[in-house]
Amino acid sequence: DRLKESKVYLRALFDYTPFEDKATPCQEAGLPFKRGDILQVVSQDDATWWQAKRVGDSNLRAALIPSTQFQERRLKYRIKMGTYQALVLSALSCVLYLSVPHICLSFHVTVTSAGLRRSFCLSRKDRQGSPGEPRTPDSALLDFLIYEEVTRYQPHPSERPRLVVLIGSLGARINELKQKVIAENPCHFGVAVPHTTRAKKSHEREGVEYNFITKQAFEADIQSNIFIEYGEYKDHFYGTSLEAIRSVLDRNKICLVDVQPEALKILWTAEFKPYVIFVKPRIHESHCKRHGSSSSLSEDLQEMRQSAVLMGERYGHLVDRVLVKEDLASACVELRDILQR
Ligand code: 5GP
Repeated sequence: DRLKESKVYLRALFDYTPFEDKATPCQEAGLPFKRGDILQVVSQDDATWWQAKRVGDSNLRAALIPSTQFQERRLKYRIKMGTYQALVLSALSCVLYLSVPHICLSFHVTVTSAGLRRSFCLSRKDRQGSPGEPRTPDSALLDFLIYEEVTRYQPHPSERPRLVVLIGSLGARINELKQKVIAENPCHFGVAVPHTTRAKKSHEREGVEYNFITKQAFEADIQSNIFIEYGEYKDHFYGTSLEAIRSVLDRNKICLVDVQPEALKILWTAEFKPYVIFVKPRIHESHCKRHGSSSSLSEDLQEMRQSAVLMGERYGHLVDRVLVKEDLASACVELRDILQR
């Protein structure tokens, strides 16, 4: 019955390109999707190929997606093949190592959702030392992240607003973005007031900038697990509590928090239903070229790019929206627009 009403929604946890999938019964009938897309499943009658539509697509026709069981089966098979190929290649490189002086063959077999990727490297023995060893297949894929069942969010008038979590890669400066959006509309948006053990400054008010508490009280609160995160700065503790978030939501305001993505483990609850926005700075190719690869600016840009890639790999499946930040003003407009919707 659930299927007749098409109420089964899945969040894809891997990228799928039907044209690269040799197993598909008909490549034109496949539904391409990216990790994070929400799929509405229309039929699960076939054990191997389900029929689904992508939420937000104007195309109303359902297309084929691999079933969880099928995708899991072939992933396990690929991992087995990857290990087998790694062993064969290891034996080959040993033979080469013994028979050809000065040359060493090393290799890497990686299991990806699209198949096996092999890379080889020939080098001089005196530099490399020993023949290549088989490596274990990509451990991230051993988790079998395929689909996650999700439910359509239907806000009830009496329900508290959702929590909005901003996570950012290096250089995104999300605190600045959060503060600006809240300052522009303090009736609708609120910030969870953090706790600190530092002394109150003359212009500050208790419970507005911070909740000022003693070091002893802070340590007791850490033990009681009241914080979603905390840190130390200049010998003082700072931390944000779950209660501080609740108090914003209780006042019927959207609570914006910017946290390290690890905090999602604590916030990912039915109570908060966090809407996660990943803010990443736009990095222009022209910047890198203009400043040459050796300059420190270019290194910074490389680091920013790597940070965004890492965040995407680790936490992409938890993200509802990606906001590419060009500058503060345009990012604010976009964030306001997302929050409005
Ligand atoms: P200030 O004492 O100048 O207000 O803040 C000092 C530092 O503490 C700033 O870098 C600020 O970002 C950080 N800070 C403020 N609130 C929190 C918090 O809730 N958690 C953590 N980890 N740091 C915070």
